[in-house]
Amino acid sequence: MTGTAVKLSNISKGYGTSRVLHDIDLEINAGEFMTLVGPSGCGKSTLLKILAGLDQPDGGLIEIGGEIANQFRPSKRNIAMVFQSYALYPHMRVRDNLAMPLIMANLPFAARMPVIGSLIPGMSAKRQKINTAVATVSKTLGIEALLERKPSELSGGQRQRVALGRAMVRQPGVFLMDEPLSNLDAALRTQVRAELVELQRRLKATFVYVTHDQVEAMTMSDRIAVMMDGAIVQVATPGEIYAAPADIRVARFIGSPPINILPATVGAQGQVQLFGESQNLRTDLMPGDRAQIGIRPEDVIVAAQTTLRSVRSPHEARIRLIENLGNEVILHLNISGDNQTEVAARLAQREWSAIRESSSDSDRVRVGLSSQRFLVFDSTGSRVQTEEIHDSQRLEVVS
Ligand code: ADP
Ligand code: MG
Repeated sequence: MTGTAVKLSNISKGYGTSRVLHDIDLEINAGEFMTLVGPSGCGKSTLLKILAGLDQPDGGLIEIGGEIANQFRPSKRNIAMVFQSYALYPHMRVRDNLAMPLIMANLPFAARMPVIGSLIPGMSAKRQKINTAVATVSKTLGIEALLERKPSELSGGQRQRVALGRAMVRQPGVFLMDEPLSNLDAALRTQVRAELVELQRRLKATFVYVTHDQVEAMTMSDRIAVMMDGAIVQVATPGEIYAAPADIRVARFIGSPPINILPATVGAQGQVQLFGESQNLRTDLMPGDRAQIGIRPEDVIVAAQTTLRSVRSPHEARIRLIENLGNEVILHLNISGDNQTEVAARLAQREWSAIRESSSDSDRVRVGLSSQRFLVFDSTGSRVQTEEIHDSQRLEVVS
C-alpha cells in the first residue's frame, strides 16, 4: 500500500462549553504505524472515536482511503478498533468471537441460526469462507490452540490477542487501537509490544495507536503525533521527537528521566546566558528576554571533583540522590551556588564506578553542561534555533 490512508483536516470538538479538540490536522500514510501520544485527558480517545465514526466532530474533514468519510457509519469506514477493555463476548468460544464480525457483516439473520442457517441455500459456502478466515487469523496470531476456550479461560495476553484477531478477520484498511496494552502486566506489555510491531510490519497495515506511554510511542511507531490540551504539537519520527522537540512540553513528555530545564536569559548580542554566564550560543530572541535551556540527563557530564579541572566552566554539585539501575546510574544533583538548581544526570555504571574510585568526597561531583547539547526554548515554550558564536571546544573529562 502507498499513499495517504487517513487525512484529518481542521477537526474540532467540544463537549458543552469545553473545547476538547482544536483544529487537528493529521495525515497518516498507508502502512504506517502512527502513534497519538499525550497525557491523560488531552483528547486522544476523542480523536480516535471521531476517526472510527463513534463520535461526530463539530467541524473538520475526515478522509479515509481518499474518500470523505464524515457521513459514513463505522461499519462503512473500512477500519477496525481494538479497545483497552477487550470487549469479547464472554459466553462465546474464541472461535465464535473471531467469527462474529464476519457473521454480522455477511450472513442474514436467519442464516445465523444454527440449524435453520444450514438449510438456507448458499450459506454453507459463506460459512466455509468465514471458517477459513478464522483459521488464517488464528494461525497468524498463534492462537489456534485456544479456539475452543471461553474468554474466562484465557490470560490477559491471550484475550488481547483474540481481540486483535477479531479486528483482523475483516481485513480492515486501518486498525485503530486505544491503549490496548494497558491492562497487561509490565513483562507481558513488553512482549506484546514487540509482537504488535512485528504483526503490523507483516500485515503492512495502517495502525493508529493511542497511548499515554512514551516508551510505547518511542519503540513502536514510524511516526509520533504528540498531543497536548486538545492540539497536536508535533508530528515526527521518534528520533526527531527526542532530539529536536518543537515545544518544551514535548521535550518534557518524552524521555526518562525527564529532560532538565534550566532558566536562562538573553544577553545584549542575543547570546544565551546560564547562571549569569554567557554561553557559546546565540538566538534571535530579544536582549533581556527570558529563555529556558533543556539538556538531557545523558548529556550532563559528571566527573569526580579532583579529576574535573579540565572541564571548562564546571559546576560544583552535591549528590542529593543516587538511583542505581544496574546498567546505569541516575544522579540527582544540586548545583551549588546561590541558585540551588537541580539537575539529573545519567551515567553508565562503569563511568560511575570510575568516579567513585577516583574521588575522596562521596558527596560531591563536578558537572559540565555543554552548550552544544542545549535545546533552547523561548518564554512561551517554543523551541528557538541557535547558532554557535565561535567554534566550540568539546567538553572533555581528562583524568
Ligand atoms: P485521553 O484519551 O487523551 O485521555 P479523552 O479524549 O478521553 O482524553 O478526553 C479529552 C477531554 O474530553 C477530557 O477532558 C474529557 O473529560 C473530555 N470528554 C471526553 N468525553 C467526553 C464526554 N462524552 N462528555 C464530556 N466530556 C468528555
Ligand atoms: Mg483515552
